Amino acid sequence: MDNAKITCLTCGQTNRVPLDRLSQSPRCGSCGDPLITGGVTEMDAAGHDKATRTDELPLLVDYWAPWCGPCRMMAPEFAKAAKALAPHARLAKLNTQDHPDIASRARIQGIPALVLYQRGRELGRLAGARPASDIVAFVQSKLPQRGA
Ligand code: ZN
Repeated sequence: MDNAKITCLTCGQTNRVPLDRLSQSPRCGSCGDPLITGGVTEMDAAGHDKATRTDELPLLVDYWAPWCGPCRMMAPEFAKAAKALAPHARLAKLNTQDHPDIASRARIQGIPALVLYQRGRELGRLAGARPASDIVAFVQSKLPQRGA
């Protein structure tokens, strides 16, 4: 694999990004928005479904809700992890209060829940609020070794 399919979370366009350009702030060929921000993007239903099914760059989704205290407490830690993991993984969040159908499809039992996806497969999940260091270590433990 010398390039990775990455879904634009703004417009839903699938982009092919050469791996050696991941760190050069690639932008969506359709809408021009950055594909890898080093931040946390709030996803809508279409963006969630497309990205979790097709993205080849690992995508970590935080399933959360506004009424969930631990979710709000974890948000700054999740943002720190997003910065630390860029450009090798993207971090995004999905509001399960707005999208209960998606939460049920993803078999989310309690929130916050973090699920790591790549190429339509679940690589692993982490339950409960975690510090940034735990989130980074979890994602790194699931990433393929270079050259493998
Ligand atoms: Zn776009």
